[in-house]
Amino acid sequence: MTLDQIIGQNTLVSQLKMNIALGKPGHACVFSGPSGMGKRTLALAFARALLCMGCKPGAACLSCRTFIEGTNPDFYEVITDKPSIGVDLIRAMQDDVANRPAYGNRKVYFIDNAQQMTTQAQNCLLKTLEEPPEYAIILMSASSFDSLLSTIRSRTIHFRMNPYSDTEMLQILKPLYTLDDNEWDFILKFSRGIPGNAIHIIEEGSVRELRQLVFRLLEKPEDIHNAEELRKALSENKAEVTTVLDILLSFYRDCMMTLEGMENRLINSDKKDMIIKLAKRFSKRKLLDKMNILEGMRRSFEYNVNHQLGVDVLVMEIQEV
Ligand SMILES: [Zn+2]
Repeated sequence: MTLDQIIGQNTLVSQLKMNIALGKPGHACVFSGPSGMGKRTLALAFARALLCMGCKPGAACLSCRTFIEGTNPDFYEVITDKPSIGVDLIRAMQDDVANRPAYGNRKVYFIDNAQQMTTQAQNCLLKTLEEPPEYAIILMSASSFDSLLSTIRSRTIHFRMNPYSDTEMLQILKPLYTLDDNEWDFILKFSRGIPGNAIHIIEEGSVRELRQLVFRLLEKPEDIHNAEELRKALSENKAEVTTVLDILLSFYRDCMMTLEGMENRLINSDKKDMIIKLAKRFSKRKLLDKMNILEGMRRSFEYNVNHQLGVDVLVMEIQEV
């Protein structure tokens, strides 16, 4: 992918292009943002542009051709299948930094998920950042900029990736998946502008199943079987607790909209009839209380040591009308 083909992140992409045009791309850059934002895609597009030796219309240059094939000798990506990036990998990269570029006047290094570097690895990398050879440019992606040592941060240019607008999300996702408009509504609302979240919801049937489970329990809170099924699903799938909290919040918000006479603006528009029916059970005050309780639960799940207890409380909260 080229920088021109990147969807969204307009300010950031213009800045990157400008830095290349001015011949001042910096010696180290960090792209930060939550997982699923496309940090690697953007970093690779930037790397390719940095190494480009001048493509002609319809004819990619030698550097770009080999970059696409994955054989460009002036591009080096630190790759590991381990959960952390150890000092050995950084040393191996530094050995390569010592060699001059093969094609043009730049070499680009990329460390994906740089927050996984051990402290020792980061300190080792620092040596290169302090005195980089003229030709070397080091790109990193990180879930958050603050996860890197301050000594690393002070020597890098930071580019924060922002959530995508609904229009951009659809531009990214629609060529990949064919879904009903109702489903797109739901997916956009739940993926919070992060394409990776949307892909997760689309590809993992479990999220949609969980949503059905939650709505079944909301409809029949006294049904012990439904409650047990949801409890079991959440016990087995810890990562989806946040999804269920989001689904519930969207439900109570939709009930509130219904009570305010704005039932045309529901997040769960495919469940409109059910929501209109269920909203009558609650007062506005009660709905606000529910939403506050759920936000509190979200925080306690982030820190909670006892997942099972949290799940039990959450299911009881759904059952309580
Ligand atoms: Zn090129």
